[in-house]
Amino acid sequence: MYGKIVKGIAGFYYVHVAESGIYECKAKGIFRKDKRKPLVGDDVELDVLDETGKKGNIIQMLPRKNQLVRPEVANVDQALVIFAMCKPQPNLGLLDRFLIMMQRQQTDTVICFNKKDLASLEEQERLEEIYGKSGCRLLFLSAHTEEGLDRLRALLSGKTTAVAGPSGVGKSSLINILQPEARMETGKISEKIDRGKHTTRHSELIAVASGTYIMDTPGFSSLYLEGMEKEELKDFFPEFMEYEPFCRFGGCMHIHEPDCGVKQALEAGRFSRDRYDSYLELYGELKEKRRYGR
Ligand code: GDP
Ligand code: ZN
Repeated sequence: MYGKIVKGIAGFYYVHVAESGIYECKAKGIFRKDKRKPLVGDDVELDVLDETGKKGNIIQMLPRKNQLVRPEVANVDQALVIFAMCKPQPNLGLLDRFLIMMQRQQTDTVICFNKKDLASLEEQERLEEIYGKSGCRLLFLSAHTEEGLDRLRALLSGKTTAVAGPSGVGKSSLINILQPEARMETGKISEKIDRGKHTTRHSELIAVASGTYIMDTPGFSSLYLEGMEKEELKDFFPEFMEYEPFCRFGGCMHIHEPDCGVKQALEAGRFSRDRYDSYLELYGELKEKRRYGR
C-alpha cells in the first residue's frame, strides 16, 4: 500500500493512505537501505501489520520531488505565509525574510493577509503596492466572514502547501475552516496523535481534500538569513531585476553607487520604497554578521 507521511513523533511515522486512514508505522531498516531519514511529506510504501489497530511498517521511500531544510519537510509545492492586515499589525520585515528564505529554497510563496474584515481598503491598497512586484501572489481574506476563502481553496487545490505565520494572525482559524471536508480523517489524526500532549511543535500534514494537503509548520518570530553573502541579497528582490541592466557598474549593490538604474527606478516610484528599505536593513545586517564573523 502507498501513502504519505503526515507526522513523525518519537520514532513513529503516521502515514495517510487515501480512503483507509492513518497508520502508525515504524521505519525499520529504511535507514540502512535508503540512507535517508523519512520526512513529513514523503511518499512511502507500507506493509500493513494490523488493519484494525492501523499499524504498519514503512518498507520503501519513493523519490522526493524536493526537500526543504526549514521547515524540514519533503514534497512541498508552495508556501503560504499568513499575516494579519491588522491586530496584530503585519511585521513586514519578518515577511520579507520569510520570502527570501522560501526563494532560496526555490519555493513559490503565496502571501495571505487575514482579518480583512478589520482593515480598510486603503490598507489593502498599501499592501498591494508594496508587494505587487514581489513575484508573490497576494490574497486578502477573512477567516471570520470567510470572504476570499474560495480563492484560497482554489490556490491550494491538488497541491501540498506549507503554511506558516507568526502567532495571532489567524492561522489556526484558517486551518480549521479548510478542514471540514476531511473532518473525519482529521479526527482520526488527533485521536491517534493526541496533539495536546506534545509541547514541542512539529510540522504536520493535514489532508484537506483528495490530493490536497496543508502542512502546518511551527510558528516563527525571527528568521536569520544564515549562510547568505550580502552580495547575493539583491537577487531575492525581483523588483530590482529589470532595472539592473541600467546600472553603470556590474555587480552594483544599488546602495551608494553612482548611476544606479535601480535607485533611479526607486526615485521614479517604479517599485515600493518599503521593500527597498527592507533590502537596506537586511544588507546592513548581513554586513554586520560578516564583521563579527558569525
Ligand atoms: P493563530 O495564533 O495565528 O493560530 O491565530 P488564531 O486563529 O488563534 O486567531 C487569533 C485571534 O484572531 C483569535 O481571537 C481569532 O478569533 C481572531 N481572528 C482570526 N481570524 C480573524 C479574522 O479574519 N477576523 C477577525 N476579526 N479576527 C480573526
Ligand atoms: Zn544599481
